Amino acid sequence: MIRKLIKRLFNGAIDSNPATRRLGQRRELPRAQHHIDAGRIAPNALAVVKKLQEAGYEAYIVGGAVRDLLLGHKPKDFDVATSATPEQVKPLFRRAFLIGRRFRIVHVMFGRDIIEVSTYRALHDAQAAEAVAGNERTAKGALADKTLAVDSSGRVLRDNVWGTLDDDAERRDFTVNALYYDPVRDVVVDYHHGMDDLRRRRLRMIGDPIQRYREDPVRMLRVARFAAKLGFELETATLAPIAECADLLANVPAARLFDETIKLLQTGHAVASLQQLRRLGLHHGLLPLLDPVLEKPEGERFVLSALEDTDARIAQGKTASPSFLFACLLWHDVEQRWNALREQGEAPLVALDGAADEVLAAQAERLAIQRRISTDMREIWALQPRFERRTARYANSLVDHPRFRAAFDFLSLRARSGQADPALAQWWDEFHLADAEGRAAMLQAVPASAAGSAKRRRRRRKPAANGESGGPAPSSADPA
Ligand code: ATP
Ligand code: MG
Repeated sequence: MIRKLIKRLFNGAIDSNPATRRLGQRRELPRAQHHIDAGRIAPNALAVVKKLQEAGYEAYIVGGAVRDLLLGHKPKDFDVATSATPEQVKPLFRRAFLIGRRFRIVHVMFGRDIIEVSTYRALHDAQAAEAVAGNERTAKGALADKTLAVDSSGRVLRDNVWGTLDDDAERRDFTVNALYYDPVRDVVVDYHHGMDDLRRRRLRMIGDPIQRYREDPVRMLRVARFAAKLGFELETATLAPIAECADLLANVPAARLFDETIKLLQTGHAVASLQQLRRLGLHHGLLPLLDPVLEKPEGERFVLSALEDTDARIAQGKTASPSFLFACLLWHDVEQRWNALREQGEAPLVALDGAADEVLAAQAERLAIQRRISTDMREIWALQPRFERRTARYANSLVDHPRFRAAFDFLSLRARSGQADPALAQWWDEFHLADAEGRAAMLQAVPASAAGSAKRRRRRRKPAANGESGGPAPSSADPA
């Protein structure tokens, strides 16, 4: 008991106090202490490690794959850490590509499978980084000069200072993400008591959490993601500074926030991730338009059903498209704007197009939704009023529309959360599966009052906002 207490105090002292921080101590855990199932290691990852080791470099499987193997889960992908520089890695493989600027790595490709190979990085010491930001020479010399840079808030702009395995272990985010597995020797290397934390199901930031959040505010989103995904408890020192550091997310480029948000939503734990984001007060910076939505019961119901659906799809091994997800997250705002514009006298489709413009432009200030995705989102939204039109001409062309499936799933979701008539969703479900005869019969049975207006509406193009096109292609949104 006392030994346990001393050990706990000792652990805390290593990692939460910057003044006394030092490298974790390297411990090698043989098979008897790790029980990794070798059969779960992707042959391509194994091949990469072996090739690097045969060429005289150090190489380990690292990160989420080791964590998941130790937890008995099947890893979703494999990352490799090595002492070889990207330039040394590339020629060893037939298809290898150097990628990234902020964080240079090598993608080794085997068909469509990618093994990410990253060179050991050294931890930035804040002083050296600040000196570099001021263009001074540092103890790290020319290498650091060229490759390390921070902004005025301490955010690391480029992270390409190579180091040793000891260095690399220290600059990783959580102790449970800093476990290295050598499949050749069958040992796990643990510097920061990651194995202990894994057993205790605890998420603990390596080093001084405040400094680590300053270097990279996205680490706070990673706290939410891993707490949700792993169901781990957050260590106090890791949790405590998040409230005061949350605003640092404002400095993160919108494109990176987009990538991280996709990860949060697409990893099969979207509902739990959103709960964690809200608990940590981090959702404001990401999807500002989501705040008011979640405060209204009908908005919250819709978003939660969308995320529950997404989690269920992923659990069944299916994928969830980012356009569908973001279309769901922002729908409530679009709908509100749509109603307001219609009240001002705009024709329905023009108003919907205008509402989409406004919402996407407001969102783009914080989180850059890629254009390819926002185009699809617009189509999903623009097709919603077309479900009201159940005449032969419109209904048959809608079913043939390339985005019909996504738009129909969206309608079903609206119906389930009380925003659309469930009978209408049911009707379309049957209609799209019916043969020509069945469809004709169904159309005939629709009462004229429920078939929707077939009157042509003239559609005015609004000027494009934020470089977006003025709306979906006429074939998708125009009833004509
Ligand atoms: P997942 O299973 O979701 O992919 P992961 O732990 O592998 O989880 P990745 O984003 O693939 O997460 O990152 C791989 C590893 O790289 C992490 O385990 C961690 O060691 C390190 N890492 C990634 N992002 C950061 C970061 N922002 N700061 C420090 N270390 C990071
Ligand atoms: Mg990973």
